[in-house]
Amino acid sequence: MGRRTFIAGNWKMNKTIAEAIALVRELRSAVSMVRDRVEIAVAPPFTALHPVAKALEDSNVILAAQNCHAEASGAFTGEVAAPMLKEVGCSYVILGHSERRQLLGETDAGVSRKVAAVLKAGMLPIVCVGETLAEREANQTLSVVEAQVKGCLSGFGKEEGARFVVAYEPVWAIGTGKTATSRQAQEVHAHVRELLRGLWGREAAEAVRIQYGGSVKADNAAELLGQPDIDGALVGGASLKVADFAAIVKAKG
Ligand code: PEP
Repeated sequence: MGRRTFIAGNWKMNKTIAEAIALVRELRSAVSMVRDRVEIAVAPPFTALHPVAKALEDSNVILAAQNCHAEASGAFTGEVAAPMLKEVGCSYVILGHSERRQLLGETDAGVSRKVAAVLKAGMLPIVCVGETLAEREANQTLSVVEAQVKGCLSGFGKEEGARFVVAYEPVWAIGTGKTATSRQAQEVHAHVRELLRGLWGREAAEAVRIQYGGSVKADNAAELLGQPDIDGALVGGASLKVADFAAIVKAKG
């Protein structure tokens, strides 16, 4: 069976509660037609998760969070635990986004602990990996991504691994308007799948959805999603406007 395309919108630190509700009310009707073909998620900031969950009831758009803490509870001021995200209605949690790696010192080992917490809480991780421009220019793309994939995922078995989502997001393409060409992206996606095959065997590796992220727009989505190992998109900027995000959702014919 083929992998079901998965398009997720990472809103980052954007949208008030009122704006978030308005966006998802419009979005749910704009994408209601693609019910079985595409899995669709939005990842609002923590403050909007509950109202957005309510606004998405009985729709085909599901909820994701942008991060969580590795512990289930405790003295971690300012943090949010995975069971809390499950309680509010999240199905997925984005982990290891490059902004968190670069600005907040997130490491592969830390991401791996968060993956375990997300699974324990009954959700699934979207694990972000990707190289910087300097690493690409130094021909280190595949080795950097390999270290990240292994560092974040090698502690898990194939039963759980088959349900994970990996997002390949070249750092130089995030929020810059520069997209990897479909060829550049496919090369890395195929490499990631090869690594997953090494970790979990062929069947599990074939089941994992690998999203591409980095300035995905309505006009480049079809080409990217047409590649054999690109199974979806993690969309930042373009997920903040209903028309743009809906067009990406519908891009794969
Ligand atoms: C992201 O932050 O995950 C992302 C891909 O952002 P953008 O689409 O804005 O490049």
